[in-house]
Amino acid sequence: MTTLITGGAGFIGGHTVLAFLDRGEIPIVLDDLSTGIREAVPPNVPFFVGDVGDTELVSRLIRNHRIDAILHFAAKIVVPESVVDPLKYYFANTVKTHALLQTAVRGKVRRFVFSSSAAVYGNPSSTPVDETAHPAPLSPYGMSKLMSEYMLIDTSAACNLRHVILRYFNVAGADPAGRLGQSTPGATHLIKVALETALRRRPYMNIYGSDYPTPDGTCVRDYVHVSDLARAHLAALDYLRNGGGSRTLNCGYGRGYSVREVVDAVRMVAGVDFETRQAPRRAGDPASIVANSDQLVSLGWKPELNDLPKMIEHACNWEKKLASVERTARGQPSGVVDVAGNASHAPAVP
Ligand code: UDP
Repeated sequence: MTTLITGGAGFIGGHTVLAFLDRGEIPIVLDDLSTGIREAVPPNVPFFVGDVGDTELVSRLIRNHRIDAILHFAAKIVVPESVVDPLKYYFANTVKTHALLQTAVRGKVRRFVFSSSAAVYGNPSSTPVDETAHPAPLSPYGMSKLMSEYMLIDTSAACNLRHVILRYFNVAGADPAGRLGQSTPGATHLIKVALETALRRRPYMNIYGSDYPTPDGTCVRDYVHVSDLARAHLAALDYLRNGGGSRTLNCGYGRGYSVREVVDAVRMVAGVDFETRQAPRRAGDPASIVANSDQLVSLGWKPELNDLPKMIEHACNWEKKLASVERTARGQPSGVVDVAGNASHAPAVP
C-alpha cells in the first residue's frame, strides 16, 4: 500500500516527502509543477506531472500503485491574490478537491489528510484559537479551504473514508539538513521576503499595516517550522492507519510574533540591516492569530524546532544556497538548475 502526495514538489509537500523518506517509506507524488519544482523531489520517488482534477490520471495512479492514503497539498496559497481573483482559488482549491475526493472514493482510498489553513478562522474572537472556534474566513483563499473541509467532512460521514484536516498556521523555515527550502519564485511570505531583502535581492520590503490592534500595530502570527509540520502529517497518517476517526487539528506552536519582531529577528540572524517601508494594510489579513495545538500534540505530534531564530537560520541557509545556484546557473545552459542538488530525472510512467 502506498501514499499519494499531491503537491509533493511544493514547499510543504516536498518537506513531507523528505519526512517519509527519512523513516524509510516511499510515497508517490503528483504535481502539476505550476509552482512546485521537479528537482525538489528525490529521484527514487515516483513522480507524475499532472492535475489533481484529472480523474482519469488519478484513478490510474490509485489503481496501479495501490494507493490507500492521499495527502492533499496541491493548492493556490496567496491570500491577496485570492481577493483579486477569487474564482481562480475556488477552482484550484475547491473544485479540484471535489474531483480528487470523488476519484478517491471511487478508488476506495480510505485515508485522506487535507492541508487546510488558519485562514479559515478569519479574526478569531480570542487567541490562541482552538478548533471549536467558529470559522469566518476573511479571504476567498480561506473560504476555498473551508469549503473543502466541509466537503471532506460530509464525504467521510457518507463513505468509507477517514480524514485528518490540518489547519496550518504560518509555515516557515527549511530542511535543517539543507536538502530543501522555499524555492517558488515570487513567494510572498514574510520570512522569505525579509531574507531576500537581507541578502540584497530586493532593495527594501514593505510592512503591511501599522494600525492593527496588536502591541506594536503590526500583524501577529504563529510561525511553525516546515519540518515539524511535515512530521505532523506523519502523525496524522499514523493516527488514521491505527484506526483513528476523522479529526480537524490546528498546527502551530502557540506563540505569536509581530511582523516587526520577525523582521528584527531576520536582521539579527542574517547579521545585516535592511530597509523596511510602511505600506497600507494588505487585503484579507487578520490582525492576530495564534494556534492552540493541544489536540495535535495529544495525537502524537512532537514539535522539535520551535525556535524562531533557528527557523530563520534554516531558511537563510536555503536562500544563500538558492542564490549561489542561480549565480552558477547564469553561466550554464537553461534546464540544468537543480536547487535541491539532485541529478536530472526521467519522467515516471503512471
Ligand atoms: N507581510 C508583510 N510584508 C511582506 C509579507 C508579509 O508585512 O512582504 C505581513 C503580512 O501582511 C501578514 C504577515 O506578514 O501580516 C504574514 O504574512 P504571510 O504572507 O507571510 O502569511 P499569511 O499570514 O498571509 O498566511
